[in-house]
Amino acid sequence: MEYARYDSPTSHALEDVIGGLEGGLATVFSSGMAAANAALDLVPMGAVVVAPSAAYTGVAIRLRELEGIGRIQLRVVEVDDTAAVIAACAGAKLLWLESPTNPMMQVADLPTCIAAAHANGALVLVDNTFATPVLQQPIALGADIVMHSVTKALSGHSDLLLGALIATDPELSEQIRNRRVLMGALPSAFDCYLALRGIRTLAVRIEKAQATAQLITDLLNQHPAVCRVRYPGSGTMAAIEITSGAEAADAVCSGTRLWAYATSLGGVESLLERRRRWPLESETVPLNLIRLSFGIENADDLWRDLKQALDSVVPQ
Ligand SMILES: *Cc1c(COP(=O)(O)O)cnc(C)c1O
Repeated sequence: MEYARYDSPTSHALEDVIGGLEGGLATVFSSGMAAANAALDLVPMGAVVVAPSAAYTGVAIRLRELEGIGRIQLRVVEVDDTAAVIAACAGAKLLWLESPTNPMMQVADLPTCIAAAHANGALVLVDNTFATPVLQQPIALGADIVMHSVTKALSGHSDLLLGALIATDPELSEQIRNRRVLMGALPSAFDCYLALRGIRTLAVRIEKAQATAQLITDLLNQHPAVCRVRYPGSGTMAAIEITSGAEAADAVCSGTRLWAYATSLGGVESLLERRRRWPLESETVPLNLIRLSFGIENADDLWRDLKQALDSVVPQ
């Protein structure tokens, strides 16, 4: 090591672990957004980028900014419409995927979409923050780059900011690393240490939170205050739509005690949030949608708490 912006022994240790989990060469960044920006920096001037209609808000805003200054040409798709993704890949340089998407929980047919992008010579990046490598390994499905907000489930304790890009091609990995050096986006050694500690319990946290998510989404499907449950059957994230509308959804979020009304996800504590409370959230996200991030608390306690908040907004 020559200079502290290049790397640190602790960042290397974290990269070995994350790279091992995803099956590639990992580069860690000071946040998920720093990782996202490094990946976007790799596409040539004016390149066509295909991306989900409701991508992670920060990524969606950045993509529209880059489109606005003529840096990229943006093609927005619904990732669960495989035919639309395939059609959009014509002439593209990058296919940016999230599956499931945040917060709409749309699931993409990854192998088919990845093959279509590759047939056009496009790189494929999959933001794997929601699924985590415990449940989905996009590189094994053909992806060129996997992205993580390590801030979320990988570190798992809502106490740090960190991102990662994982690639199999050594040359691509080297380009990614150079982006990090030049953008000054190396995470602190202390955050890398905390992330390493958090990842030690990743598998048991996901197992516990997923079991609770499966149990509670079944119960939510039968609750009259809820008109739609978005849950792909696995994972620790879900979204519900409240029958009586956005105000009632706000009342549910403010009416829980164990669930915290807060942004972020993937931590040991359960969080819920009406996403459209943020003016910059995509307008394709329903106003009455609440995103749920399942933590590792007692499942009966979580259901009792959520149920009493929902009971208060049952339509008359
Ligand atoms: C949080 C998040 C990001 C951004 O990560 P930061 O660590 O907050 O910069 C990107 N993608 C998804 C899916 C996220 O949830």
